[in-house]
Amino acid sequence: MAGIYLHIPFCKQACYYCDFHFSTSMKMKEDFTEVLLKELILQRDYLKDEAINTVYFGGGTPSLLSYDDISELLDTIYMNYNVNGIPEITLEANPDDLSNKKLKELSKTKVNRLSIGVQSFDDKDLRFMNRAHTANEAENCIKNAQDIGFENLTADLIYGTPTLSDEQWKSNLNKLNSLDIPHLSCYCLTVESKTALADFIRKGKAPDVDEQKSATHFEIMLEEMDKYGYDQYEISNFCKEGKFSEHNTAYWFGEKYLGLGPSAHSYNGTTRQWNVSNNPLYIKSINENKIPYEIETLTNEQRFNEYILTSLRTKWGTDINKVEKDFGTEDKETLMNQVMNYLERGLIIKKDNHFFLTNKGKLIADTITSDLFL
Ligand code: SF4
Repeated sequence: MAGIYLHIPFCKQACYYCDFHFSTSMKMKEDFTEVLLKELILQRDYLKDEAINTVYFGGGTPSLLSYDDISELLDTIYMNYNVNGIPEITLEANPDDLSNKKLKELSKTKVNRLSIGVQSFDDKDLRFMNRAHTANEAENCIKNAQDIGFENLTADLIYGTPTLSDEQWKSNLNKLNSLDIPHLSCYCLTVESKTALADFIRKGKAPDVDEQKSATHFEIMLEEMDKYGYDQYEISNFCKEGKFSEHNTAYWFGEKYLGLGPSAHSYNGTTRQWNVSNNPLYIKSINENKIPYEIETLTNEQRFNEYILTSLRTKWGTDINKVEKDFGTEDKETLMNQVMNYLERGLIIKKDNHFFLTNKGKLIADTITSDLFL
């Protein structure tokens, strides 16, 4: 089982908080699609004959791709990879791109899951983030997508922004529940050093993120999502009736994936590699039939740390037997000793030979996981 990720490195405008790889110049967009098709062919042996269960268009802004681009990319995947039955095919989309015409076109492709970048239903909040859409556009595109027949929808929300009140945060969650969205990803605003937001904060033009506010929003989120019947299957991800993101879940379970496009990462069980984060260099190199990547062979320690990092954040928890089987008795004993302090403080619980974060523990998940690393 494996997944394919396609990174579409273009955005209409730069959200102030974003540190993904993208360009706001569309100059290379045409060339890029051609080159991405070529990379799909060049990389077709990476996953050997592994069955492809998921395809994910991420970015950047994949909703900037045309109907022809998407169809051609998917046709190339179907022709060159071992695609399994009906895979989950997700496309990230921004509300300002999802006109009725666009939604109708998308419904004619093999894309069967839309991930909509809503972020907030408050225009003031959206302006703070420099999003290219309004709250109304976000609400309307969700309704239109559903009318056109997209049932498998997910939306992204951001909490902890200085402009987001507790009441508005509750109202954002309530709105998505009332829109009957089966999956939600909620991310806490973090200030990455090279972003415009970090610069504004340094210059005193924007207030810094308030950790206490983020923690309150996290608690509100747990309470509201539970009330609405969503299953928190990963710290930032909630779904109804088993509508997990198959793509991300496979990643958390350590399945293999192939990432294409600039900055995309790939993993084959033993090595991880990543393409250059530069559009012109990427295009030039692929045109010369060379994949512009760096590679590392994962050490035992890196694989252990990665397993702790991903598993502890999920509702399936960290499997103590698996730790012993994959990493040996010594590493298992180290984990058992390290975890003791968190068990005593009620931040982790042990059940059926698995460790799970408690709600209190989820609040400081990053601190706990890095403390459990080898
Ligand atoms: S958040 Fe999304 S839309 Fe905004 S700049 Fe980043 S990749 Fe582009």
